[in-house]
Amino acid sequence: SYPTGVDWNAPIPVKPLTDLFDSSAARFADRPFIDFLGKRYTYRQGTDMVDRVAKGLQALGVGRGSNVGLFLPNTPYSVFCYYGILKTGATVVNFNPLYAERELVKQINDSEVEIMITVDVPQCYDKLVLMLGQTCLKTIVTGRMADILPFPKSLLYPLVKRKDIARPPADGHNLGFRTLTANDGRYAPVTINPVEDVAVLQYTGGTTGVPKGAMLTHANLTANTVQSALWFYQGRPGQERMLGVLPLFHVFAMTGVMNLSIYLGAEMILLPRFEIEQVLDTIDKKKPTQFPAVPTIYTAINNYKDRAKYDLSSLAFSISGGAPLPLDVCQTFEGHTGCKLVEGYGLSESSPVATVNPIDGPVGGKVKVGSIGLPVPGTVIEIIDVEDGKTPVAQGQRGEVCISGPQVMKGYWKRPDETALTLRNGRLHTGDVGYMDEDGYIYIVDRIKDMILAGGYNVYPRNVEEAIYLHPAVNECIVLGVPDPYRGQTVKAYIKLTEGHTLTQAELCDFLRDKLSAIELPKQVEFRTELPKTMIGKLSRKALLDELEAQKKAS
Ligand code: AMP
Repeated sequence: SYPTGVDWNAPIPVKPLTDLFDSSAARFADRPFIDFLGKRYTYRQGTDMVDRVAKGLQALGVGRGSNVGLFLPNTPYSVFCYYGILKTGATVVNFNPLYAERELVKQINDSEVEIMITVDVPQCYDKLVLMLGQTCLKTIVTGRMADILPFPKSLLYPLVKRKDIARPPADGHNLGFRTLTANDGRYAPVTINPVEDVAVLQYTGGTTGVPKGAMLTHANLTANTVQSALWFYQGRPGQERMLGVLPLFHVFAMTGVMNLSIYLGAEMILLPRFEIEQVLDTIDKKKPTQFPAVPTIYTAINNYKDRAKYDLSSLAFSISGGAPLPLDVCQTFEGHTGCKLVEGYGLSESSPVATVNPIDGPVGGKVKVGSIGLPVPGTVIEIIDVEDGKTPVAQGQRGEVCISGPQVMKGYWKRPDETALTLRNGRLHTGDVGYMDEDGYIYIVDRIKDMILAGGYNVYPRNVEEAIYLHPAVNECIVLGVPDPYRGQTVKAYIKLTEGHTLTQAELCDFLRDKLSAIELPKQVEFRTELPKTMIGKLSRKALLDELEAQKKAS
């Protein structure tokens, strides 16, 4: 069982993130560090790889002030290279390996990355080679999947298709990972200023939607790792096994899986992507204790027909984040597994964890389902008047959720205007609308920019979604505002039904009539077999809006 009770006064250290790595590496040297599809590394072996990467990068001229890209699905390279880059004093720039060419060009040029590390998976490698001529990218470092897979590559569907890549492009800018790491690992140590030095540029749309790099300093990431650990796990170092299925390039998994795992001396059980049978089989066989994920993943497990074939009882604790966790999803998952599932909240700009529901009532509190919980230690949440942007509203009133704390980013890379909009009066303005109850628990109502303005009324799509989710035939749902000649905007629901169920728009509206006001009732309902998701698996409202935009242009 987990110790309860958060030490609210525990100091939040101000130090390089690499110090957390070094102290775990020393403390847990012979304990398991990473398991990737059966290929395992101890902390000692992992440290050796990290140090080799650092030395190899130094030989390429990388150091403080350099930005180095990671273009990787989850593999051990993701971890070795992340920390290897940090040890040189340089900044990691996380790239989504599924980016299309256009997005890649933009982010490479914006972040001024000249070296990028990837693997010989065609989807990654081939795309990067195309970048050599048309962006500032000069060098690609390629790891070979064959080097880290203990079994035939064909099992890694669909990541590896080609037998052997590592073919250097004609202009010779390619460097194999083996070359990079072929040294004795004694890199030249660098002094890092934790408060000033940017550890990671984390790209996000933020509240304005323009992609930009949130500058997360070493101190930000160290703080958020320790804050997360203080909240949940203090007391079980060296005993956890963390299932890492969320992509490590995303801020949630970067902190909540990778950095937390290292800080706790846990074993990271990495999977390249979310594949339901593989995930269930891995839980059954490798017995992870922690499973951070997004609500759609828990939903998929809840609905999986052969779930009972797998023993999921090793799971002790999971944090759900990134999107609202519906009550029935939470309860069903807890019922199936015996795992405690709590909801947290955060964003790229806050490294990301800002609030979490307490597990078992630290300081006399309790889990409040539907709430994103209480601020993590060292963090203050204020609900600020949306109109004037500076006055806290009365308890229970809605306003913009604002965060202050040591995990709040330094600013956006090369975007002083966006920084000034987001960091005001010492607070991070999240763009999320919420309120606080009498016990200080926070509730998210919606994002300001997702609000629908229908006939002069504010409609919060999440409120409508929650009501729709109450219908047993509904599996997934996204609500958004579509143009309407009379009301300006009107409410449209996109719904994926649970297998074997049927539902019509009229039946749904009858069901919703006592749950929503007339203006909130969806005027349009579209049933689909799939709803779009973001890379991390959140339902993607943006993809549907883009679709509508494209239709508008075409008509
Ligand atoms: P990102 O920076 O891409 O991680 O997105 C952060 C956004 O995700 C936040 O501003 C929220 O709108 C949303 N979000 C994260 N966690 C939650 C949660 N538990 N409930 C509701 N929304 C969330």
